Amino acid sequence: MTRMVDSGLWMLDKIFGTRNSELRTMIIAIDGPAGAGKSTISRLIAARHGWTYLDTGAMYRAVTLMAVEQGIAPADEDELGALARNVEIGFKPGPGGSPQVFAGCRDVTHEIRSQDVSALVSEVSAQGAVREALVEKQRAIAARGNVVMDGRDIGTVVCPGADVKIFLTASNPERSRRRRLELQQKGVEVSQAQMEREIAARDDYDSSRELAPLKAADDAIIIDTTNMTIEQVVDKISEIIEKQLK
Ligand code: C5P
Repeated sequence: MTRMVDSGLWMLDKIFGTRNSELRTMIIAIDGPAGAGKSTISRLIAARHGWTYLDTGAMYRAVTLMAVEQGIAPADEDELGALARNVEIGFKPGPGGSPQVFAGCRDVTHEIRSQDVSALVSEVSAQGAVREALVEKQRAIAARGNVVMDGRDIGTVVCPGADVKIFLTASNPERSRRRRLELQQKGVEVSQAQMEREIAARDDYDSSRELAPLKAADDAIIIDTTNMTIEQVVDKISEIIEKQLK
């Protein structure tokens, strides 16, 4: 019993970075703007080590989808906060390795990626009550250890004590090209110019908001993936993790 309590405290120290933990369990924070490749890279890193992958953007998207369906305005902080606290967001391994996302028992994997949700998610995510509720859920998952988390504020707010902090970025045209390809594979056509505008707007909103703005932690390693393949990025981050594990 004592040992369980002790290890729980160690994990809290690890999340908040208040003490150097000697636990052989890792928290990897991967932050960066839309389309930088965070989810693909994080998923591959997690699979390589047999760790959990947590897509925190999917959580903000799930709350946004439910808000749209329930007619809650993106500026209604109280209602959104209640929604974020009450909705049970779950993940299950899906076909091809990308996780399926659930809101309660409902599979929302595809709906949370719609253009409607993408257009509103930054506004919903800027609400303090939403962030508070989701950060709590994210830390509960991080506390289980051996987790790769991707988002905007993992290294700065959610787990400032993470063992490895990476900030992935790439030029807007390259990130827009990648997002367009992803959408094309789902049969959705968006012009390059429109995608560049959408990405720039989301970057702007996410970086300039008051709470947990998108920015690299002081001790994050910044990787510009504009001219890198997925394999090169995964190898580079794996090397960083291996060094940390030694
Ligand atoms: O990662 P993804 O592009 O799916 O995230 C969608 C949106 O969710 C972001 O544009 C941002 O507004 C919000 N988000 C956030 N904090 C995170 C992850 C995502 O505010 N940790």
